[in-house]
Amino acid sequence: TMGTVALDASGNLSGMCTTSGMGFKMRGRVGDSPIIGAGLYVDNEVGAVTCSGQGEEVIRMCGSHLVVEFMRQGLSPKEACRRAVERIVKRDPARARDFQVGFIALNRKGEVGAFSVQKGFNYTVTSANVQQQVFNAEHYL
Ligand code: ASP
Repeated sequence: TMGTVALDASGNLSGMCTTSGMGFKMRGRVGDSPIIGAGLYVDNEVGAVTCSGQGEEVIRMCGSHLVVEFMRQGLSPKEACRRAVERIVKRDPARARDFQVGFIALNRKGEVGAFSVQKGFNYTVTSANVQQQVFNAEHYL
């Protein structure tokens, strides 16, 4: 999945995502990316979130919506992502070793955070002052 979350000069949030789906997927499978609340969720009063990885795990938790709700409760974008990842991992810790899910979140203040199940979830941040910085998200396992 490729996803983007953005905050414009007027303070409005937006987000998008696109997906290549899964290799060898079942015919008719719908992943998380086209489901609002799973692969993408934006609430202009709180934040914008998108994610990548094993869509079934994300759909089950309404993942991106969950991260927005954690931010609404006052968590930073990174902590909100970490809490959602933690919930996914704790559901079945043994199985979680075999899949990746990573979230990226942006709040109204322009703070960005990310967290993933496994190593290897990378993202970039660009702003009016910063050209483009690449980050490796912290991971749970
Ligand atoms: N999230 C996508 C899916 O499960 C896979 C991806 O990361 O592109 O369909």
